[in-house]
Amino acid sequence: MKKLINKKECVILYHSNIINKYPEIKELLQKNPFISDEMINDNKELSESTKNLFLSGAYKKLVSDAFDEWYAEKITVFDNKSGIRCSLCNRVNHIICYIKNRNDDNETELNVGKDCIKHFPNLTDDDNKYYDIVEQVKEIQKTQNFNMEFKNFDQTILYYEKALDNSPFLVNRDIFTNVTRTLYKIKELKKNYIEGRITKACFNDIRSKINELDKWITISLKSENEKLGNNQFACTRELARFIMFSDRKDKDQIIEKLRINKSCIDSKTIKYFSYLPFIEKFLNDYKEITSKMFYDIRIFKGNLYVTIKNRALSSVVFYTTPQRFMYYLGELVFCKYDKNFASTHKVDSYLTLKNLLSKVFILDDSDSNNVYLLIQRLNRFFDFHEFLYDYEKRITYIVKRNKKEMIVINNINFIVKHLLIYFDYNSENIFKIDLYFNSLCRNKFFNKLKWRNISDDDINEINKCRKMLDDFDILVDSY
Ligand SMILES: [Zn+2]
Repeated sequence: MKKLINKKECVILYHSNIINKYPEIKELLQKNPFISDEMINDNKELSESTKNLFLSGAYKKLVSDAFDEWYAEKITVFDNKSGIRCSLCNRVNHIICYIKNRNDDNETELNVGKDCIKHFPNLTDDDNKYYDIVEQVKEIQKTQNFNMEFKNFDQTILYYEKALDNSPFLVNRDIFTNVTRTLYKIKELKKNYIEGRITKACFNDIRSKINELDKWITISLKSENEKLGNNQFACTRELARFIMFSDRKDKDQIIEKLRINKSCIDSKTIKYFSYLPFIEKFLNDYKEITSKMFYDIRIFKGNLYVTIKNRALSSVVFYTTPQRFMYYLGELVFCKYDKNFASTHKVDSYLTLKNLLSKVFILDDSDSNNVYLLIQRLNRFFDFHEFLYDYEKRITYIVKRNKKEMIVINNINFIVKHLLIYFDYNSENIFKIDLYFNSLCRNKFFNKLKWRNISDDDINEINKCRKMLDDFDILVDSY
């Protein structure tokens, strides 16, 4: 005896639409769970055409056409007690795919269990989109296996992620890296298992990694927190953004926590910490450090005001935004801090100032005294060029002393960005004419300006400005 159509195929064929064209076969299906060659050959009631269908092998096409009538409706996962059975094999299943007949007006529905669904490799959903229901069932099953093995997996992961976030916001770099990495690996292993890339053997790996997490969080973190002197703390950019942009009311508390911990923040992150109260509090704590640096800094109306502690530029006030300050100086001021700062962190004041003046600081020209201070110092420094400022028009003039040429500069910060950066900051005596710096300024600045001849009108303006500068001198002297 040879089975021509097995039990499962019989169920599908019996419920299909196409079978209505073959009433003889339908009757056979009604009476028998499967169809064998004997049932055909020995059956005297069957017509020749039906017999021929089986003998020629054409019945196979009939079966496959029957299968093609079905589309996937949905997958439902039951608990094991519900006793839902597969329509094809009659076994109790907890994963059931509901399939429907697209050619049947009554939309006959069949339950197909997770094993029998493999007989429908080409199952599509009702929109005829490719819909790999077999793969989907596999994933559901693997997820179930996983959840059986690791009960509360999601909560466990969440617990460690929270531990990472809530523990003093800045976590020791090693612990942070290890926990983050381990969490990532665990999630990857789960994903790979469910998507069928690795076997159950990964469960042991996951278990030992969860134990590792436990070790890191509960043991190491606590002890590390107790010895906060380490100073090498990491903080994610996400956390920084959270602190900066969230409207949380405990923002100040977070900052306070950072401050109490005396934690240094990762240099990649510090750039983005431009929240002003943060800078203010930290600067206050690090007063000792900043006082050893080459500038004094004060916070006023949302900006940072800076006076550079260099004889040539002392008392001239520059300002900068918190964003610019932290972007360029955050690391220098906050990250490199240690108790040997003064000795180990020797700042090359020339190079640093050069950078700062071109990128960070802007001259505060809203205060004419401030501008005149700078003008005065420039005039003392350069013998061959005279600097003048019209504070009514807020315009700067540079006049060549020995030639009748001049230039107008609309924004005094042009001078800060392009000339002050060549200033001799190391010179103890600002009256000293340093040949090197003078020639540097000449080549890099003065020679690049577009000079023009002085007209009669210019002479009036120049004299007016000289008078303003003289008045300013009296003002300064009177202090
Ligand atoms: Zn089944």
